Amino acid sequence: MRRLSIQNEKLQVVGQLAASISHEVRNPLTSSKGYLQLMRDEKDQVSQKRFIDLSLKGIDQANHVIEDYLTFANSTPDRVEQIDVKESILELIQLMEPAAFYHQVKMKTELVNCIFVKGQKRSFKQCMMNIMKNSIESMPAGGELNIKMITEKHLIISISDTGLGMTKEQVNRFGEPFFTTKDEGTGLGIMAACIIVNSMKGKIQVKSEVNRGTTVYIEFHEITKEKPKHIKKGI
Ligand code: ADP
Ligand code: MG
Repeated sequence: MRRLSIQNEKLQVVGQLAASISHEVRNPLTSSKGYLQLMRDEKDQVSQKRFIDLSLKGIDQANHVIEDYLTFANSTPDRVEQIDVKESILELIQLMEPAAFYHQVKMKTELVNCIFVKGQKRSFKQCMMNIMKNSIESMPAGGELNIKMITEKHLIISISDTGLGMTKEQVNRFGEPFFTTKDEGTGLGIMAACIIVNSMKGKIQVKSEVNRGTTVYIEFHEITKEKPKHIKKGI
C-alpha cells in the first residue's frame, strides 16, 4: 500500500504543469497538421492512408489530454459546495456504463446515503472518472469494477478492479506526471486526481497486485453526515 501525498515543491511543478497542458495538446496537434500537409502533396495511396492514420492519432492524443483534465469543465465559475458523494458516483456510473459494457466490465457499488464532502463537484467527478477509466482500461478481457463507500469516522471511497494490476515499480510511479504504460496514454489522469483530492484535504492510496487487480482508496477526514441545512454557494 502506498500513500500519495503532494509535497510543496511538487505543487510548484503542478503550477507549471497547467501551462504545459496546452503544450501537451499543441504537440500532437502540430504533428497532425504536419501529416496533413504531407498528405496534400502525396500521390501514393498507401502513404496517404498512413498519414491520415498518424494524423488521427495526434488528434486522439490531444483529446485524451483534454479528457483527463476537462471532461467536466464548463463555463460556469467554480464553486465550492457540499458534494453528495453517492449522488456524484451514481451520475458517473451512468456516464461510464457504455464504456464498461463495451469492455465487458461489470460495475458494482456499495454506497452510503447522505455523506457530503466539501469541494467542487465537477473536479470530484473528474477525479473519480480518471480513476474509474483506468480501472476499465486495465481489464481488456472484462472483469469487475467495485465502488464502495466505507464510513466510520472518515469516508473511504474504494475503487477496485480485477484487472492487470501493477508491478511495485509501477505502483511507485503511480501519479507521477507523464508516467504511462499505455500506447495512447497521457500519464496525467492520476496526477490530476491527486491534485483534486489534495485540494479537498483528502488522500489517495493505492494497492495493486499484478494479474489480480488494483484498488485505489480516496480518504476524506472532513465529511458531513447529513444534508447541511445551509448549503454554501459560491466562495
Ligand atoms: P494514462 O491512463 O493516460 O496512462 P494515468 O495517470 O491515468 O495515465 O495512469 C498512469 C498509469 O498508472 C497507467 O498508464 C497505468 O500504468 C497505471 N494505472 C493506473 N490505474 C491503474 C489500474 N487501475 N490498473 C492498472 N494500472 C493502472
Ligand atoms: Mg488514465
